[in-house]
Amino acid sequence: MKPLLHYLPEDSVLAQSRERIMYLLAYVIAILLTPFAVNNFIENRPALGVAIMLIVGTFVANGVAIRIKKRPPIPFILLLLPLGTCLVYSLITQGLYGALWCYPALLFCFLILPQRIAIATSAVLLMIATPMVYVFVNEGTAVRFAVSLGLNIVIVSIITGVVADLQRELFEQAATDPLTGALNRRQMESLLSEALERRARSAAPASVLLVDIDHFKSINDRFGHHVGDQVLKNLVALLKRHMRKLDRLFRTGGEEFLLLLADTKSSDAVVHAERIRILISQAVLTELATVTVSIGVAECVPNQQIEAWIKNADDALYFAKEEGRNRVVCETPVTVDGLSDVALEFSGSDRRTRDR
Ligand code: GH3
Ligand code: MG
Ligand code: MG
Repeated sequence: MKPLLHYLPEDSVLAQSRERIMYLLAYVIAILLTPFAVNNFIENRPALGVAIMLIVGTFVANGVAIRIKKRPPIPFILLLLPLGTCLVYSLITQGLYGALWCYPALLFCFLILPQRIAIATSAVLLMIATPMVYVFVNEGTAVRFAVSLGLNIVIVSIITGVVADLQRELFEQAATDPLTGALNRRQMESLLSEALERRARSAAPASVLLVDIDHFKSINDRFGHHVGDQVLKNLVALLKRHMRKLDRLFRTGGEEFLLLLADTKSSDAVVHAERIRILISQAVLTELATVTVSIGVAECVPNQQIEAWIKNADDALYFAKEEGRNRVVCETPVTVDGLSDVALEFSGSDRRTRDR
């Protein structure tokens, strides 16, 4: 299963459960449809028999692949063609009895397709099947068929819409910190390791900013915990407003946050960190006090472990605190025009380990 951090990778309610659904359906379809295929061969409708066998074969082949933990060899979307052929053929040869297959076909669309495409496909199904019922059965039946199938489409859309909302809510709860809405540590590990993989594969740089509020304990002590909470929320809102689309913000501890900057070298990360530091020092996170932050910056290096990367940023943050707070420190020396006064630097030999 893909990690949840991808904000639901596909626009599909059932995307994450699709393999399990397909595996179960393989059994059901093979047992239910094979007799229909045989019957069609016996009653001299070989085209319909072959189309049904194609559907059964696809399900069984994919079901076996899923069972042995391989990627399903045949894309399920290809099933729409034999399915459509079967439906049209059944409608022509069996009239209303053939039209009954439109109902499971509609549900099937919602199982295999992203929701919006499933709605469009089932609307097309309705528009094709209704005139056929009109031609091959009669007008009254066509009206009842259209209304009942249309109602089914609406009901299934509502159900999948509700499930999608619940799924989104669950995702939010599992991935974010409830107080601030920043992503949680679990997401951080997964996204940092992705960034490290990209660094190893394509040399794409990535940097982290470890942002820690200065003297936060004294804000709690002087004005109460609720004011501290408000500061945390306002800080995250501010950081989010100034983030690029691909950047990610995590709450790593009480008043400590990590900003992952995609495709960013440490020299650019320092500029960004400095901008953030100034923004925060000028913002009103609470009417009662001025809030400042210290920021440790670290760029990842090839084949680095997450822990080592964060530790570099943590060491830099430690130095920012040591040097008096309300400042940015980068773990490696960087030269940034116009920032030499504010972006402090220290070299590898100067590094000290934070005493915890
Ligand atoms: P420094 O400048 O060295 O970072 O000092 P600090 O006071 O910010 O750091 P310290 O680690 O001493 O204190 C952090 C405080 O953050 C202590 C803890 O009570 C508070 N804290 C942690 N989580 C929360 C929270 O969710 N809400 C509030 N209001 N306070 C929190
Ligand atoms: Mg602090
Ligand atoms: Mg802290």
